Amino acid sequence: MEKDNQEKVIVIDFGGQYNQLVARRVRECNVYCEIYSYRTPLDQIRKMNPKGIILTGGPNSVYEKEAATAPKELFELGVPVLGLCYGAQLMNYVLGGKVARADEREYGKTEVIVDKPLSRLYDGIPSPMVCWMSHNDYIAEPAPGFEITAHSANCPCASDEDPERKLYAIQYHPEVLHTMFGKEILRNFVIGICGCSGSWKMEDFAQKTIQELREKIGDGKALCALSGGVDSSVAAVLLSQAIGKNLTCVFVDHGLLRKDEGDLVESVFGPDGPYDLNFIRVNAQQRFYDKLAGVTEPEKKRKIIGEEFIRVFEEEAKKIGAVDYLVQGTIYPDVVESGLGGESATIKSHHNVGGLPDYVDFKEIVEPLRYLFKDEVRKVGLHLGIPEKLVMRQPFPGPGLGIRIIGEVTAEKVRIVQDADAIFREEMANAGLDKTTGQYFAALTNMRSVGVMGDERTYDYAIALRAVNTVDFMTADSVEIPYPVLKKVTSRIINEVSHVNRVFYDITSKPPGTIEFE
Ligand code: GLN
Repeated sequence: MEKDNQEKVIVIDFGGQYNQLVARRVRECNVYCEIYSYRTPLDQIRKMNPKGIILTGGPNSVYEKEAATAPKELFELGVPVLGLCYGAQLMNYVLGGKVARADEREYGKTEVIVDKPLSRLYDGIPSPMVCWMSHNDYIAEPAPGFEITAHSANCPCASDEDPERKLYAIQYHPEVLHTMFGKEILRNFVIGICGCSGSWKMEDFAQKTIQELREKIGDGKALCALSGGVDSSVAAVLLSQAIGKNLTCVFVDHGLLRKDEGDLVESVFGPDGPYDLNFIRVNAQQRFYDKLAGVTEPEKKRKIIGEEFIRVFEEEAKKIGAVDYLVQGTIYPDVVESGLGGESATIKSHHNVGGLPDYVDFKEIVEPLRYLFKDEVRKVGLHLGIPEKLVMRQPFPGPGLGIRIIGEVTAEKVRIVQDADAIFREEMANAGLDKTTGQYFAALTNMRSVGVMGDERTYDYAIALRAVNTVDFMTADSVEIPYPVLKKVTSRIINEVSHVNRVFYDITSKPPGTIEFE
């Protein structure tokens, strides 16, 4: 993909924790941005013709032998460079300054005093301001030509710069939301200093991508495994607008979807919906229930569901015959997690269709969303006219309700958890909590207990409700749902869902719990 003429800022990754946030904040300024490893050759960077370069934080110490580094020439391209934390230390170090271990390590909220309010970086920024720090080392002596522009109680150089050479270094992290004016500071850099126009829009992305896909695929055929989730839906619609009839989408209903979800997906993407996707719905519910009969071990359940999914998908693909392209809804965090986008450690390899079917005969994989973050994908989805209900939905695990039913999965248990979950969702929405709560759902515990209903003894299941807030799904906290809401949900579930006589609310955080139950 030729991108060299596109106005963009590149982020050079030194393995910091917040690197994706840096790219995100830049894009929030309507400037296109990509992340590259610090190992990327200088020539390649030059070719990309960036308007600005941002160096991220990182775990190393610049004075260590094996530390990640950058060539001096990177700072001589005439392109503005902004170093953040490790990047700031590195810039000063490489250009002749001193970096040393600090006596006092700074971590968390810190008050920063701006010493040079006339710095273009601090245009319109008040002082003092609250910033987020996370470092052990500090810039003990700025590089020659640099001037300190801010400090904190423990850190004599919270930022410094050489505006002549367009070099800027910041010890704190403007990319995190705790840094109060972080976004404005980054804006001052990309718009004010780099001179980006800030005109990049999601709409442009959609149009441009459709055009590129059209050129690339031409008359070829493409196949997409549509889960109804946000990413694959958006990818499918982009493809359909690019190549029309040559796209086929296969939607496998494994009978472990939320209540009415299969029908919702079909109504939007099926033949009666507004898109032309050659939509094939495979009702494989019974197949999955049969395979899952008697299986209680969580990992085994996941495996069975994953394998059966591929099997069904392969069967459909075979009916279509040879396809040239397989479409995947891979998004940027998947790319970075797979260790491809930048420097962050490989966390897991993603295969959106759950491990690619070996004998689907295709030439190439198409991933039109591989540079976008989730919320950006959502924006594209809304722009393409995909209903908000689908675009804004919560993440839903591939194995679906299979891992929200503890123990053996049966059609009856699926029905119970679907109904309970639908009530929970409805009441969360009624209480206005749906927009502020990260993820919430009902699960079916495998526990049965004695109750009394209408003077009769019952021996029925207990439903567990779970609601968490999380930024990145790596850690999560349970949500304090108001008691009246919990009471209402409980009473409705017990009254309306047969074979449930108790409801529990799970207040475990992650860790030690996980978000899902299995
Ligand atoms: N490792 C460096 C330090 O401890 C940089 C830390 C960072 O980039 N967050 O100071």
